Amino acid sequence: MQRVKYLIIGAGISGLSFAFHKRNEDYLIIEKDSVYGGLARSFYKDGFVWDVAGHFFHFHSDETKTHYDVLMKGKNIRTVEKCAKVYYAGQFMDAPFQYNIHQLPPKEFIECLTDLYFADRPDGNLPFDEFVRRTYGNGIAEKFLIPYNEKLYACHMNDLERNSMGGFLPKLDFPMLMNFYRGLRGRTYNDTFSYPVNGCVEIINSLVANLDKDRIHLNEIVQRIDASNKRVFSTNGEYQYEYLINTCALNSFARMVGDTGATCLNYNQVLVLNLGFDKPSIDKKVSWVYFPGTEFFYRIGFYNNIAGTERLSLYIEIGYKANEVIDIEQALQRTLADLKRIGVIDNHNLIAYEPYIINPGYAHITTVGKEYTSHFISAMFENNIYMVGRYARWEYSAMDDSMEQAKQLAARI
Ligand SMILES: Cc1cc2nc3c(=O)[nH]c(=O)nc-3n(C[C@H](O)[C@H](O)[C@H](O)COP(=O)(O)OP(=O)(O)OC[C@H]3O[C@@H](n4cnc5c(N)ncnc54)[C@H](O)[C@@H]3O)c2cc1C
Repeated sequence: MQRVKYLIIGAGISGLSFAFHKRNEDYLIIEKDSVYGGLARSFYKDGFVWDVAGHFFHFHSDETKTHYDVLMKGKNIRTVEKCAKVYYAGQFMDAPFQYNIHQLPPKEFIECLTDLYFADRPDGNLPFDEFVRRTYGNGIAEKFLIPYNEKLYACHMNDLERNSMGGFLPKLDFPMLMNFYRGLRGRTYNDTFSYPVNGCVEIINSLVANLDKDRIHLNEIVQRIDASNKRVFSTNGEYQYEYLINTCALNSFARMVGDTGATCLNYNQVLVLNLGFDKPSIDKKVSWVYFPGTEFFYRIGFYNNIAGTERLSLYIEIGYKANEVIDIEQALQRTLADLKRIGVIDNHNLIAYEPYIINPGYAHITTVGKEYTSHFISAMFENNIYMVGRYARWEYSAMDDSMEQAKQLAARI
């Protein structure tokens, strides 16, 4: 049995970031896949560079941005002015929808504006549907927020709760709305984002370059954990740890420690289709587009516009229920038909493609789930087991949050 001070499950951005901060100490990463990066990996095919659905860097803290800049020094990085659109009723309008309702046909604009004016942001943890209607009014809720989120989360809005999206849907600011209307929109923290031209995996490569590869075991699966005796059992052996850092999804991890309560955690899958075409993009500016309507996908993004490359290169995101069987070929055909109908492709030929299923894709935050998660994480903490990252904490967070969480934890233990 091998003894290790910091045993890390998963070589995604969370696990690698934690190891980076402990690079001079005794650590070991166990990763079930054959590649580093988890969801921050990239794919290279026929000259196209793709991520798992476009993984872009937005920073909430200057410290994390500085850390990123140091890691990425010498790499080809683009700072991109975000250009996000919504495809509504046959037209592309600016995102966010709620601040650009003046771009709707006049009748719908007045409807949204008056509903918004009379909306009274409620208190309490209401069903999401109710929260959205009462915060933004029926117009904005029914034209965009409810149908879009139902596609993304692949569930009825009432299966989610206010807290699932609360932070992402702040109360609409009327003076700001008027500024958007007058074309004077102010700047926000995520107006620009950073992207390595060779794919998101560039940050993973930089982290790995600072680590000892012998201390990262690929193709090894953690199967069971004996939390009271601090032991991990994997497909390759048995380990005794002092601290266990988990980055794999909390529902799977709970099963590994023998906890059966995680069945209360709901989530959905996301099918990502990365598509490469033989001709340039018709639109040269848009970064990504949200689709609340009947289109098969909920979001598409343009790698070519973001990375400044020639040929049209798209990522497509489609939400599915947790246990739904995904027919990739059917999804591809429906996607291509919809792309043609909305004018993203014309006489373009698909010349390369890569599907990837993210499962779990999005955690559905519910009261019961939150109670379970908080109780479980505290109980693990008592046993020197720590959760880092979006899936281990069962939350809605991004790569910069993973980097921050890893750094903070590394400073504490
Ligand atoms: C559609 C979509 C788009 C996104 N876009 C962005 C974006 O643009 N910008 C952004 O900042 N964030 C984005 N995110 C969020 C981002 O993907 C996550 O925050 C981040 O990748 C989480 O990293 P992680 O290391 O915590 O988890 P993961 O990347 O999931 O890594 C966990 C690792 O654990 C391994 N593992 C699992 N089980 C075991 C086991 N039993 N034994 C050993 N290893 C195991 C897995 O193989 C995996 O490599 C997006 C997420 C989604 C779903």
